[in-house]
Amino acid sequence: MRLNSKWNRRSFLGSVGAIAGSLLAPRKLFSRPSAAAGTSTQVSGFGQTGNPYEELGVPTVINCEGTMTVLGGSLPHPELEAVMTMAGRHFVNIPDLEVAAGKRIAEMLKLPDGYTALVTSGAAAAIQSGLAGILTGGKEALIRQLPDLTGMKSEVIIQKSHRNPFDHQLRSTGIKLIEVETPDQLRAAVNERSAMMHFSNFANAAGQIKVDEWVKLAKQYNIPCMNDAAADTPPVSHLWDYTNMGYDLVTFSGGKAIRGPQCAGLLIGRKDTVANALLNNSPHEDTLGRSQKVGKEEILGMVKALELFLAEDHEALAKEWQARLEGISREITKVPGVTTSFFVPDIANHVPHMSITWDASRISVTPQQASKLLRNSKPSIVIGGGEGRPGLAMCSFMLQSGEDKIVAEQLSRVLREHAV
Ligand SMILES: *Cc1c(COP(=O)(O)O)cnc(C)c1O
Repeated sequence: MRLNSKWNRRSFLGSVGAIAGSLLAPRKLFSRPSAAAGTSTQVSGFGQTGNPYEELGVPTVINCEGTMTVLGGSLPHPELEAVMTMAGRHFVNIPDLEVAAGKRIAEMLKLPDGYTALVTSGAAAAIQSGLAGILTGGKEALIRQLPDLTGMKSEVIIQKSHRNPFDHQLRSTGIKLIEVETPDQLRAAVNERSAMMHFSNFANAAGQIKVDEWVKLAKQYNIPCMNDAAADTPPVSHLWDYTNMGYDLVTFSGGKAIRGPQCAGLLIGRKDTVANALLNNSPHEDTLGRSQKVGKEEILGMVKALELFLAEDHEALAKEWQARLEGISREITKVPGVTTSFFVPDIANHVPHMSITWDASRISVTPQQASKLLRNSKPSIVIGGGEGRPGLAMCSFMLQSGEDKIVAEQLSRVLREHAV
């Protein structure tokens, strides 16, 4: 599988199977109250300690990597947990709920006329359902038939540099990906089988055709156009920038920086296409998307998460995240030979990051070794290299209160222990 920079930033972690393999004693530092926030429900048996992860013997980790699905994405706001608990107290017609939630989300995001949203089980599900909707339209026979594309269009055009593991969700519909690099190649690739043009937002810089030009060309060729912007908030304006640009479908992950339900995402798009995506999705049976069930809890949770996300003071948050990094920097640069610098990735985890490097002649541990030692420390800290930079890199926006101090202490300790 071809890897681009976006995926390389995860490389120190590898499969993260290593985390599961590090058998550490449970820690009590950050036990949280039971998930049923706002209720006084007493839990007996499993969950009675307030930390069911510890009860199962799976160590929780301090997350310096950002919103990684493999680490659990993000942690929900207590008000979100409260609304999801309320969701579980009633029965409701799910398709009706989806349509009403989509309408509310469209209003909150001030989407252009003719656009709505669908809560899916994640951005990956939104990619598959969105394309399925384009392929089948509202035709029941075609919906049942997928991924057999007989009688449907069968190709999706994508820039070569935009290929990534999530295009599996496109391929799962049965389509063939047609790779192009230049506008001329794109023109040559367009034919009567072209169902959609796909854009991977994080790869904007890597491709020759940029995000605004891609959608213009799609309009010129009259082909529906999707942008996968799964991890690309903040900035919050990305939630409407791409529909304003003219994209027919845009996908977001709910469980990343939006801090929505872990198993939720958004398909934002033109009403007819979104309606057809829902027909290809759970709760509708004999559909490709039936395996991507989204529950009443996730649907209401996504509405609440967006409300909370939109109301947040994003500038103040960015300042707080930067201040946390600077606090860690002050501690670790006391170790002779250690240098830090700050950066914000252009896209995806677009939040303050800190690069940590050291003079190899004064500190003998490699970044990979340091990362492993921290992962095996108590508490376990997940920090990797990243964004093509040497040394270690971290962000602080998924740290919980007090964890920045632990990171500073443990990192200083590991580096000091290897002073030459
Ligand atoms: C995380 C991610 C996805 C998948 O999002 P889920 O909400 O986990 O399904 C898709 N595309 C990109 C680029 C991502 O970063």
